[in-house]
Amino acid sequence: MTNWTLAARAATMNPSAIREILKLTDKPGIISLAGGLPSPKAFPLNEFTAACNTVMARDGAAALQYATSEGYAPLRQAVADMLPWAVDPDQVLITTGSQQALDLIGKVLLDKDSRMLVETPTYLGALQAFAPQEPIAVSVASDDDGILVDDFAAQAGTGTNKARLAYVLPNFQNPTGRTMTEARRAALVAKAAELDIPLIEDNPYGDLWFGEAPPAPLTARNPDGCIYMGSFSKVLAPGLRIGFIVAPKAIYPKLLQAKQAADLHTPGFNQRVVAEVIKDGFLDRHVPTIRALYKQQRDTMLAALEHGMAGLDVKWTRPAGGMFLWVRLPEGVNAQALLPEAVERNVAFVPGAPFYADHPDTRTLRLSYVTATSDEIRTAIAALAAAIRAHQAR
Ligand code: PMP
Repeated sequence: MTNWTLAARAATMNPSAIREILKLTDKPGIISLAGGLPSPKAFPLNEFTAACNTVMARDGAAALQYATSEGYAPLRQAVADMLPWAVDPDQVLITTGSQQALDLIGKVLLDKDSRMLVETPTYLGALQAFAPQEPIAVSVASDDDGILVDDFAAQAGTGTNKARLAYVLPNFQNPTGRTMTEARRAALVAKAAELDIPLIEDNPYGDLWFGEAPPAPLTARNPDGCIYMGSFSKVLAPGLRIGFIVAPKAIYPKLLQAKQAADLHTPGFNQRVVAEVIKDGFLDRHVPTIRALYKQQRDTMLAALEHGMAGLDVKWTRPAGGMFLWVRLPEGVNAQALLPEAVERNVAFVPGAPFYADHPDTRTLRLSYVTATSDEIRTAIAALAAAIRAHQAR
């Protein structure tokens, strides 16, 4: 490629800050709290092996043939049955990970310069997925309970500038780990309905709660006003790339056409394997083991932070589920500048700035407590605290 002219949208495609950081973690001996990788200890290997064999023996060539764009009917039914509101399987679209759901939703709802509302901060991968449509992403002020509904209304825009969508993660948000309260959910759904702004609800972590289940999804409260996205990545395994959309019937055909154009369908073999693994209530037995594992890891990290950060003006969230917690560094400490010093001490994290659609808080960073072992977490947090102290001493 020498003088090729690229599409303007190609300029919107940038390497993920996280992928770039994951390269740093290749360094031998480094403990990475950066990645969002589910713990491989949580992958049900035996069940997958058995399901692969069953699918091949039972379905044979059908499992290897082209299939429908909507997805494998028994899996769509299983998804509908799993959700805590009345879902018709015809509203379920199986996607190649929920990351593809973001891409399809962006293609269907966003034009260049369309206004789009997101939380402060939000999932970086969603900003990336929507970016090729060249929308204007507007951060809505958010607190520990999620998006602030008054600011949501204030930022909604009017007329042709009215927001085309609002993207929200009510449960154990990536990156902050925070959860929207019942009252906040009710208020947001009511305001979005009043303003007629579609809520795009992304819920890959909702089942990974530690104490009690989170309040009902936004979509359960107003199914016609929301597009819901779910995923098997965090409750089974991400490598299968099985996610789903639950969409109002009025918008479903457009999402389906976008899906068809994107990849015809999600791998049928993978869909059949997932359907086989989850039949007979497997998730009800399996997910509690992930909750227990991640809860213990979260507790280890919280205790290590309490101990390691003593005397430092560092704040962090206490997630009630999910995989991440969010740290705010002392005044004057920039997370991006701290990163090389942390890597030198063999710990990696993700600086928070890329998770903001605008006005980044450069003192923030994201830590994952699920991939490293408990011993590694303790070592890594001590190293991070040492890096902060050294940084401040300079
Ligand atoms: N949404 C959120 C909030 C995520 O954290 C992730 C994974 N990091 C995804 C969507 C995409 O997940 P997948 O494509 O594996 O379903």
